Amino acid sequence: MKYLLVLAVVMVAFYVWRNNRITDRSDASRPPPAPPATPRLPVVMVACQQCGTHLPQGDTVQGALGPYCSAEHRRLKEGGSA
Ligand SMILES: [Zn+2]
Repeated sequence: MKYLLVLAVVMVAFYVWRNNRITDRSDASRPPPAPPATPRLPVVMVACQQCGTHLPQGDTVQGALGPYCSAEHRRLKEGGSA
């Protein structure tokens, strides 16, 4: 009778362990949750007046004729012609 009780405890322990393993495996096979969708502000892209390269408006060098990608292009466009 004592061995029957030990056997029952072992069987319950094995049952719980197997259930935990199956749960872990299903968790591992599940695809990772998608990252939360964070609203991003649109970046205004402007073209350089010299070379036409598009770049964010915040990274431009402002000239008299418009935005430029660099001070060198502003000099080439505005300093050369004017
Ligand atoms: Zn440029």
